[in-house]
Amino acid sequence: MSKISWTDIQSKRLKELNADPKTMSTLFDTNEQRNHSYQTLERKLVKLEKSRLNEFLTNQLQPKIYKLECRLTKILNQQGFSRVTNPTIISKTQLARMTIDRQHPLFDKVFWINARQCLRPMLAPNLYRVMYELARLGKKPIRFFEIGPCFRKESDTSQHNNEFTMLNLVEMGLPRENRHQRLMELGQLIADAAGLKDYAFEKKSSAVYGDTIDIVCGDDKLEIASGAMGPHPLDHAWRIIDTWVGLGFGLERMVMIAEGSESIGKWGKSLAYLDGIRLNF
Ligand code: ATP
Ligand code: MG
Repeated sequence: MSKISWTDIQSKRLKELNADPKTMSTLFDTNEQRNHSYQTLERKLVKLEKSRLNEFLTNQLQPKIYKLECRLTKILNQQGFSRVTNPTIISKTQLARMTIDRQHPLFDKVFWINARQCLRPMLAPNLYRVMYELARLGKKPIRFFEIGPCFRKESDTSQHNNEFTMLNLVEMGLPRENRHQRLMELGQLIADAAGLKDYAFEKKSSAVYGDTIDIVCGDDKLEIASGAMGPHPLDHAWRIIDTWVGLGFGLERMVMIAEGSESIGKWGKSLAYLDGIRLNF
């Protein structure tokens, strides 16, 4: 029975060049056979990547993640959600108000730029402030969203980037009994627009975060979004008294899944990849 697999270096290179899972798990009888197959395959894949790059530069012209961002903006606008843009740099006080202090698992992932300020690991602290301002000024229901970069020091590289793009939407002032239904409706709207097929909702309850709903995808149930609703244990600190639902999605995760890819690094901000295409041919 064949039992010789690709070497680590070959395997890494083939993954970079977008070899499919079947190719990745091919086994050989001898090293010579394997090395010969590798050379032929590498040449073929490089050619394929070059034609994908050419297609990107002449026809596609925009990365898939940017196209997704535009598509989602349009769909949310049509549903009455306004887009907001908040600062990427936030304060330690804002984090503390989200209960992200030394004891919190997210705290160690925060990129500090000085003793008082960090790069936002999530959009929620700014959005809570927007909720407060709009609740005072606007009439209900209030609907808005932000799409923008978030930063976390992560160690798992196939599903996490240190810099990634979050979509966070919020609807305030809806009837309490409609919140679950509305979260699912909005989740479905975004997941469908991103071209995801095999996704499911997972309800959870926790003392700190109240009722939450995650959206997970595929057999390995990779999380693409987390949803929450208010009244919520954190609302008091932000002076929020209205009902609300909110969902946060990772755009790179959605593109990765929609493209049938297993590594998120290709789809984020990168100098090594352009729209999923490895540049070092
Ligand atoms: P995970 O458990 O997968 O690390 P999380 O629960 O910590 O995710 P949330 O804080 O709920 O993530 O953020 C909302 C969404 O943002 C996630 O569902 C995911 O799609 C995306 N996301 C979070 N962290 C990252 C990251 N480091 N890189 C890419 N996307 C991310
Ligand atoms: Mg989550």
